[in-house]
Amino acid sequence: MSLEKRQVIVVGAGPSGLLSAREASKRGVEVLVLEEHPEVGIPCHCAGLLSLNGLERLKIPIDHSYVQNMVRGAIFYSPSGLSLRIERDRPVACVVNRSLFDKFLAFQAERAGAEIRLNCKVYGISVDGIGVHVCSKPDRFMAEILIDAEGVSSRLVRAAGLEPLNSSCLLSALQFDLSGVSVDPEYVEVHLGRQVAPGFFAWLIPLSSDSVRVGLGCKRANPRILLNRFIQRRFKDEEYEILAVRSGTIVTSGPIRRTFADRLLIVGDAAGQVKPTTGGGVILGGICGMTAGRVAAEAVRLSRFNSDFLVSYERIWRGMLGREFRYMLWARRILNALSDRMIDKLFEFIKREDLCRVISKLGDMDFQSRVISELIHHGRILKMLTHLLGLGKPQING
Ligand SMILES: Cc1cc2nc3c(=O)[nH]c(=O)nc-3n(C[C@H](O)[C@H](O)[C@H](O)COP(=O)(O)OP(=O)(O)OC[C@H]3O[C@@H](n4cnc5c(N)ncnc54)[C@H](O)[C@@H]3O)c2cc1C
Repeated sequence: MSLEKRQVIVVGAGPSGLLSAREASKRGVEVLVLEEHPEVGIPCHCAGLLSLNGLERLKIPIDHSYVQNMVRGAIFYSPSGLSLRIERDRPVACVVNRSLFDKFLAFQAERAGAEIRLNCKVYGISVDGIGVHVCSKPDRFMAEILIDAEGVSSRLVRAAGLEPLNSSCLLSALQFDLSGVSVDPEYVEVHLGRQVAPGFFAWLIPLSSDSVRVGLGCKRANPRILLNRFIQRRFKDEEYEILAVRSGTIVTSGPIRRTFADRLLIVGDAAGQVKPTTGGGVILGGICGMTAGRVAAEAVRLSRFNSDFLVSYERIWRGMLGREFRYMLWARRILNALSDRMIDKLFEFIKREDLCRVISKLGDMDFQSRVISELIHHGRILKMLTHLLGLGKPQING
């Protein structure tokens, strides 16, 4: 077996890995992406809802090759059926075919100069003074620096001796693509409640006026039983057909404690860079992936591969997103603690105080701290939550 050498190796051709590769390659370093599957983007585990602002931040042009639909708002349903509509007058998000989206990112990375090696699974890594030794099949590699973008499995994070994702915050998820239903193509639906999806929510993402991606995440429950029950209730008089079935793991833990080590940077799901409120990880993981690519390229340029230099990756992404994660984690904890009756009360309160307007105006799908902060500083909502849950003031300043 030969030993191939590269300056930067990225493990995993998901969005975080491909964006890291694109950014590092743009800066003139040799980048190799190793992907265990025979095709980029397959299998797909994602609902594909991405904000337009987020795509702009990632410098990904909106392309008809992967966009399936555009949406301009969301309708939230409480356990008893109360609804809150959050909307803008123009599209704020697109629904993408994740397999084709990932292929688009692979094209961007390759065009920047990265090489992608498929059918190449990484089993382990070891770091010494010379470089990172990558134990993979069928080939073996060595790199000056490695970016771990392996997703939720976190095998390499553990192998590197770093603290992996908190497994109690990983949720089972299942989703179906359905045709033959009647939905509003401009609005996503979010259904809350312990009966519907304990520990998370059920979603309905329109692909058109007669097809949807419907799914849910849950904790300590069987997602298949819950999803079948939800679909029967939501589409009870409709003759739908199931076109696709996908399962996956949703990360709600927030970031791991440390995302770097000597010659190593961790990005995306593997680093917990996923919104704890919604489980969306493409945009924030992508922002961190781009940061990792830039820092890795700089490390190569300066020949500085130890933690003293690579800590800059963590400083940069925490500077951009640390507050966001703190607020979203707080919101996730509150949502998890609310009983169905309490969620109904919260909906009634938001309606009475006309807070949908505030949320519609300030809400940003990815950068949620501003709207969460606005809501908790609305004195009465904080009072109501602390009363409902017997909580103290949130410790999320900064
Ligand atoms: C049901 C569901 C719905 C979701 N919906 C949304 C949504 O609507 N919007 C959103 O933003 N996010 C959503 N997410 C989250 C989103 O899918 C992830 O946050 C995102 O895919 C993370 O990207 P990543 O590059 O970090 O990891 P991944 O996309 O998981 O990519 C990791 C890659 O690494 C490869 N790999 C793993 N181990 C190895 C190895 N040892 N050797 C070589 N290759 C390896 C894998 O094959 C994979 O290609 C959803 C998740 C689930 C489960």
